[in-house]
Amino acid sequence: MQENLFTYLTEYESEMIRLRRDFHRHPELSFQEVRTPAKIAAFYDALGIPYRANVGGSGIVATLTGTRPGKTIAIRADFDALPLQEETELSFRSIRPGVMHACGHDGHTAIVLGLAAAFHAIQDELAGTVVFIHQHGEEVFPGGCHPDD
Ligand SMILES: [Zn+2]
Repeated sequence: MQENLFTYLTEYESEMIRLRRDFHRHPELSFQEVRTPAKIAAFYDALGIPYRANVGGSGIVATLTGTRPGKTIAIRADFDALPLQEETELSFRSIRPGVMHACGHDGHTAIVLGLAAAFHAIQDELAGTVVFIHQHGEEVFPGGCHPDD
């Protein structure tokens, strides 16, 4: 299973880079995330992985169940950006003045989506459940991860 997972992750590398650059280009501040969770949801829709949206705000929790019983693991990534002006000339630099993915949440999100796609590809071999948690509002306190949610 592990070999197959790495094979698929390698296969999805360019898609993860594309996703990361797309998120980087369209950063959203904490508790103002709309586009980002919609993109994440669309990704799970395309794969047919069930998820809950609007968790504690705009968080998304997707669940991939293997074909055999086993343990459950959770993988978490945050998806909000920071109130910073991007001063780069990158082709995928932020289009939003004063907002930038400067903390890596664009990468976190792309990595977890790539992992979800890879786990989905090996779902037939998977024993157990993988939960993919996409958290909004991580950069502020109190943030998008309340104990009540
Ligand atoms: Zn952060």
